[in-house]
Amino acid sequence: MNKVNHVLGISGGKDSAALAIYLRRSYPELDIDFYTCDTGKELDETYDLIERLNSVLGKEIRLYRSMDEENSPMKNPFDHFLALYGGYLPSATSRWCTKKMKLEPFENEIGDTPTVSYVGIRGDENREGYISKKENIQTIFPFRKNIWSSDVVKKILSNENISQLEALYRNHGESPSIESLLKQVAKPISPKFTQSQKLNVLLETNVKLFNRVVFEFLKDTDYPVGKLKEFPLIDNDDIIVLQDVFDILENSGVGVPAYYQPLEYTVEIDGELKHGAYSRSRSGCFFCFYQQKIEWVWLLEQHTDLYEKAIEYEKEGYTWMDESLEDLRKPERVASIKREHYRRMQRQSQRSRTGVTWQDEILQAEGEGCASCFI
Ligand code: SF4
Repeated sequence: MNKVNHVLGISGGKDSAALAIYLRRSYPELDIDFYTCDTGKELDETYDLIERLNSVLGKEIRLYRSMDEENSPMKNPFDHFLALYGGYLPSATSRWCTKKMKLEPFENEIGDTPTVSYVGIRGDENREGYISKKENIQTIFPFRKNIWSSDVVKKILSNENISQLEALYRNHGESPSIESLLKQVAKPISPKFTQSQKLNVLLETNVKLFNRVVFEFLKDTDYPVGKLKEFPLIDNDDIIVLQDVFDILENSGVGVPAYYQPLEYTVEIDGELKHGAYSRSRSGCFFCFYQQKIEWVWLLEQHTDLYEKAIEYEKEGYTWMDESLEDLRKPERVASIKREHYRRMQRQSQRSRTGVTWQDEILQAEGEGCASCFI
């Protein structure tokens, strides 16, 4: 049996931290390498979280380096690559930062060894994480009902594999309940019965059986999980959502990074003082271009020194977003961003029977961004 590595990237965000704790506690038999890729520009709270996590995991979180810090005049990854890119700031459409400082160091470190990479996308999220193009790296999502990546699902549910799937279900399912399930297994994917509908039916009927079948299917492929003798996660049907993540962090003693905690701001609207709350919804570089305008205001007011540093990067003429940070910091602009944020929260609160919590705000903000930096 080939050696298969297990790795989990710690972004500094809440979900990857909670996943590391969860897997270490629930599956101590999995020998997982925990790693992080530092950009040199994270918030102090992120570095604190990684340090606390180190002691709770009882295992060193390795740093996958993107550059030779000793021999670069820049001494930190972001500034090193920014110089190589001629001062051109990264953006959502030109995300050289993630490529150079997160993905390439990860793939270089892994090399050609078959590797299972665990990613903390939660059961209440509707997005796929980064799936490596390298065939020797397979991504698993332990917090979701469907732990498999989209490429695996596409392969196993393709119409040309129906007979193999039926055979695997017959071998691993129990009669007589298997007979009705087999009708769904045999049903081809079509515009009237999509891949996602078929997946849902199979998962809803019996998650563990589906996982067992996928595991057996993978044994005839080059996927790293197929090279394993046992894979304990196939017997896991936990679904971990946002509140569970906060609970895992609190109960472990690692705690929730301070920047998620909402802080009150005051803004004048139609002659009246109103009180709203802002926070930062994600980890990552303090100047990340994925931030919402209200998060830039949070940075300006809560970490003025970092806001000033973010402005320094705009001196070359490039900006982090559609307006410059010098413009955004003007008092009338700050007040207008707060008013807009306050009104949006009010509208959402009126539409919801239970009101809008700070966790709801995190859920909304999470849709945008980069899985390698924020999970
Ligand atoms: S946090 Fe934002 S700026 Fe930093 S590497 Fe990730 S995407 Fe780029």
